Amino acid sequence: MSVKKWVHLCPLCFRQKDMKQTNNIMSSFGTTVFTVMSQLATDHGAINLGQGFPDQDGPADIREVAARAMIDGPNQYPPMMGMVELRQAVAVANKRFYDLDVDWRAQVMVTSGATEALADCLLGLINPGDEVVLIEPLYDCYLPMVQRAGGVAKLVRIEPPEWTLPRQQLEEAFSDKTKLILLNSPHNPAGKVFDADELAFIAGLVEKHDAYAVCDEVYEHLLFDGRKHIPLMTLPGMAERCVRIGSAGKTFSLTGWKIGYITGAPALISTIAKTHQFNTFTTPPGTQLAAAFGLGKGDEYFTGLAADLQARRDQLSKGLKSIGFETMESEGTYFLTVDFRPLGFNGDDVEFCRHITTQAGVAAVPVSAFYQQADVDHFARFCFCKGEALLDQALAKLSAHFST
Ligand code: PMP
Ligand code: GLN
Repeated sequence: MSVKKWVHLCPLCFRQKDMKQTNNIMSSFGTTVFTVMSQLATDHGAINLGQGFPDQDGPADIREVAARAMIDGPNQYPPMMGMVELRQAVAVANKRFYDLDVDWRAQVMVTSGATEALADCLLGLINPGDEVVLIEPLYDCYLPMVQRAGGVAKLVRIEPPEWTLPRQQLEEAFSDKTKLILLNSPHNPAGKVFDADELAFIAGLVEKHDAYAVCDEVYEHLLFDGRKHIPLMTLPGMAERCVRIGSAGKTFSLTGWKIGYITGAPALISTIAKTHQFNTFTTPPGTQLAAAFGLGKGDEYFTGLAADLQARRDQLSKGLKSIGFETMESEGTYFLTVDFRPLGFNGDDVEFCRHITTQAGVAAVPVSAFYQQADVDHFARFCFCKGEALLDQALAKLSAHFST
């Protein structure tokens, strides 16, 4: 397994000598690029457009519900499957946004973030030796979790600038050993939103190979230019084969809350719930109630969130273009990928992101960190879920740096 170059930047990565080996899969991975780049940004006082988190907290009324619950309760263990209020709200949201009929008792479970939801799904569905289809670039926890669950990863790539789905390779990655595909749409870091035709193709493969799909849909409400999110679960035959994962962190700009929710067929949820019950068991009740309140907000909240973010995407994209970057399309998420070669920088993406963090005072994330082979090495991911003024400051710093 390749050890990524950026791992060596991190002081947290060390080996213990002369003692029994720790788990060989986990110890083979370095510290995540988000932590490495955020630490570098902090160390150098740089504006952090690396790790994806908003600089402004989500709605005050949602935070007030949580604050009140901390004082008035409940503050003891909530039900293992999640607070009734949130499970019902997730079921109602499934109907409201996607016309999915969901029984909240049997088909919805609350987790401590989408990250736990992913772990629960993968540990709950994979048997050692099962094949798992993954589409690179990969969000950081996918491969470690699949491998720790005993899965054998079958990687297919999409690549900048077009991020086109290579259908033949995807078809070849599936076999009768395929247990599941892990699909992220809208996609981090590509900003790609899988369209109806691509989803139909994927659904066909899932059905043909009697597989499942774990759908990471944390950016489901962050789509731009009038695009609509289509859960794979809404396609014919997919309701019984898919689980879809949402995140209150993303939907309400409260990433530190770590509230996730899984929707799926009863038979899948009941097994996935076993992982949850032996893992975190529950999630703090006050933030669950607040997330339930948030999901009940009017349409203007959800359309406003996407519209605000789209304006920030446009601001960053226009600014970076005027500095000389080549910018890729971002159809959804928090992220914009750029090619920095037109600036004449002499080095790869890891060096470039390190350079701009330490020298220009703006952090970004190297896109090669999301691939197993570091051959896609001249793209950087910038995060635009920040206030207008902060993005302007970041652009001014980059502009001043590259114009000298
Ligand atoms: N999946 C993707 C694609 C993400 O970008 C994130 C970002 N945090 C997560 C899962 C994890 O979400 P959470 O913070 O709710 O655990
Ligand atoms: N999802 C965020 C990103 O892609 C990071 C979350 C994390 O640091 N684990 O930047």
